[in-house]
Amino acid sequence: MKVQEIQAKSILRKHKKIDSWFISHYGMNLYRGCIHNCIYCDGRAEKYQVTGDFGEEVAVKVNAIEILNRELDPKRNRKPFKRSFMMVGGGVGDSYQAVERRYALTRQALELIHKYGFATHILTKSTLVERDFDIIKQINASNRALVSFSFSSVDDEISRFVEPGVPSPSERLKTLERFKAAGIACGMFLMPVIPFLTDSPQLIEMAVEEAKRVGLDYIIFSGMTLKSGQQKDHFIQHIRRQYPELEAAYESIYPGNQWGMATKEYYDSINQSFHRIAKQYRMPTRIPSHLFNDILDEDDKVLVILDQLDYLAKQAGRRSPYGYAAYSLSQQKRPLGELRGHLQRIKGIGRVTESIIHEILDTGTSRYYDKLMYG
Ligand code: SF4
Repeated sequence: MKVQEIQAKSILRKHKKIDSWFISHYGMNLYRGCIHNCIYCDGRAEKYQVTGDFGEEVAVKVNAIEILNRELDPKRNRKPFKRSFMMVGGGVGDSYQAVERRYALTRQALELIHKYGFATHILTKSTLVERDFDIIKQINASNRALVSFSFSSVDDEISRFVEPGVPSPSERLKTLERFKAAGIACGMFLMPVIPFLTDSPQLIEMAVEEAKRVGLDYIIFSGMTLKSGQQKDHFIQHIRRQYPELEAAYESIYPGNQWGMATKEYYDSINQSFHRIAKQYRMPTRIPSHLFNDILDEDDKVLVILDQLDYLAKQAGRRSPYGYAAYSLSQQKRPLGELRGHLQRIKGIGRVTESIIHEILDTGTSRYYDKLMYG
């Protein structure tokens, strides 16, 4: 592993609108690059401009904590922070990869999150997160912490091949069990499932079954993207070595486009399997509203629930105007409370959507949403 120490100019990334997958307005990357070296990692794709040998080198933003302290301090910000979970993880480097043992940037970031009174959502593949059990428990007690782990399956053997640098799925599940036992809400990001290796209904069901056994609060599911260039070349090289007979199959479902999307037929088929199984196990497939109702302000609560409703309705094979409605609302300058009674004047909001919005404003949820989420 080669470590390069770099100076960052800023750490906190603000999203244009709240992210309904992570329930977050803000994210941060403390490291750049990732020595976990998952063979499918899209951090290798040219668009992310991670320099150096991805998987072998990592850049450490050594001044990250000093900058983050400045960025999070409410006294230095003219605009108040939008209420949501501060996202730690995701992006192009795991916050708990091995260098974190030495630099402890993630731990210090969590200490700042606690000091300034924010909720946090941590996403990782590494059991090193257990080192920070104490501070995560404190954040959870005063605001809230969500701990999510990503998995491509719960099969230890396949994981050794596709994710050579991370603890096995069994170990990740044990860590989740410990966080759950401490009363912390936890979830599984079953993403990406790897075509032809971890996307069978049997393996998907094993993952959902394990999530249920551990008592996880949600599973978020997604298929793999494979962007032409370094990401695809690296992945195919490994497949050629281990499963040469599969190479042609990958070429057939990844025809090559700038987003690295597989064919619609392929995504439809794995989504259908996942949703059938999740429904059977009554497992929420988005972070459910009871975990963010008291964290978000009224407007964001409506946006997130509409966005999630869009996903849930489409997965159930129903028509959905809700995603567009959420987008339209996010463009409004005035708060929703002031628009109440006139919502149908906004593009994309009809009578039914308006009544759902009113219900969310009055009760914090909607019966239709609950029905689709919990079955
Ligand atoms: S842990 Fe995440 S960021 Fe790191 S190599 Fe694996 S997929 Fe990429």
